[in-house]
Amino acid sequence: MERVAVIGAGVSGLTTAYWLKRRGIDFTLFEASNRVGGVWHQKAYNELFLITSRKSTYLSGSKPPEDYPDFPSAAQWLAYLEDYAASQGLEEHLRLHTAVDVVQPSGEGFEVTAAGTSESFTHVVVCSGLNQIPKHPDTPGSFSGEVLHSADYKHHRQLVGKRVLVVGEGNSGADIAVEAGRVGKMSAIAVRNSAWIIPKYAMGVPVTELQRPGTPLWAQRLFLKFIIGTSSGSPDKFGLPLPNHRLFERTMVASQQLPYMLRHGLIHPRADVARLDGSTVHFTDGRSDDFDLIVNATGYRYELSLLRGTGLDPGRVRLFRRLFVEGHHRLFVNGFYVNNGAFTQVANSAAQLIAACVAHPERYRASIEADMRRSPQAFSDEFVIPNRNAHTKALAKLHLQVSGAALAD
Ligand SMILES: Cc1cc2nc3c(=O)[nH]c(=O)nc-3n(C[C@H](O)[C@H](O)[C@H](O)COP(=O)(O)OP(=O)(O)OC[C@H]3O[C@@H](n4cnc5c(N)ncnc54)[C@H](O)[C@@H]3O)c2cc1C
Repeated sequence: MERVAVIGAGVSGLTTAYWLKRRGIDFTLFEASNRVGGVWHQKAYNELFLITSRKSTYLSGSKPPEDYPDFPSAAQWLAYLEDYAASQGLEEHLRLHTAVDVVQPSGEGFEVTAAGTSESFTHVVVCSGLNQIPKHPDTPGSFSGEVLHSADYKHHRQLVGKRVLVVGEGNSGADIAVEAGRVGKMSAIAVRNSAWIIPKYAMGVPVTELQRPGTPLWAQRLFLKFIIGTSSGSPDKFGLPLPNHRLFERTMVASQQLPYMLRHGLIHPRADVARLDGSTVHFTDGRSDDFDLIVNATGYRYELSLLRGTGLDPGRVRLFRRLFVEGHHRLFVNGFYVNNGAFTQVANSAAQLIAACVAHPERYRASIEADMRRSPQAFSDEFVIPNRNAHTKALAKLHLQVSGAALAD
């Protein structure tokens, strides 16, 4: 009898649980914290809103309420996730305050140890998220002011009246620089490699809703280039470096406010930080300024130490199609990707495929081994999925082979 351990009850864990439940497969959903939702309660701040629209961002089987705005707040999105866990009957499988410590291979399956107790499972799905351990830059010198990571930023009150330097230009960095421009004494953003900045709306519609499934990557690039060119323009137009990569190769920043505030002088563009000296920050272009607060919006790293018993490198797991682990056909990972579109669309497809693989082990083994031989380029330890449509198409093909059915929405 199959029994699956799903580790982590964020978006990836919830949609995985949903599809296991749909197939009548027994599972336990382990969650280290006190509630479901993952980053949406652990990393959320007062000014956080979805960057992907309500209509394009939803878990399988239930859409967010129609009276939500185009871009729900983090609090609204978290309420939707909590309601999802309750209404889809996932709570009865949920164990809160239960961090999985280690997963050890045992016979055909695994021994999962959490809160000092070990249990046997036939399969494990790791959904512990990419946003685990805040990364700080290793800058020479020392700073006499306050230093935060964006993970510790919760409310614009933390910025009021301060000279704020945001280091890094991801979506959180952009939000915090905008808030500092509003309530701080001064706001600057230090950027080493610029991201492409896209508007949240174009032609009156959320941009994520203009990204049609099935559109080839070259056409998506052309379209976004047009959207960028007809709105704020490329980052070099407002003082940031021109991105050194093509659209979709790295995470894009979705913000109408960042270019606006840079162009109005409310946020000051700066080069990368060279060194720190008391309250002074020296930048690589020779300029220097004094600050009260540095916010490092420099991302996260993960450490899958819970897999230390499996022989895999916990800091660099090489996945096939971002979810299969070679040599461990009963171990899956969901959520280890960023994809410049609604995360849920990929997570839902991956979850559906994982449930099909658990339900049809023979067809799964044959299909996946053939796919691994045919497509060695689909092994990767990188997270960005540049071509989301091609990726979900490959998952859909595997799902068809394994379960005989097309992927559902
Ligand atoms: C600030 C921010 C804004 C974002 N905005 C968007 C957006 O607008 N649209 C979009 O599509 N995506 C967005 N994303 C991407 C976001 O990461 C995904 O949408 C998604 O929420 C990730 O879900 P996850 O379940 O994979 O990971 P997480 O949300 O990180 O959840 C992982 C869960 O696993 C638990 N866990 C970890 N280790 C263990 C363990 N050992 N035992 C038990 N439990 C464990 C954690 O407590 C957590 O609850 C954003 C991300 C961030 C950080």
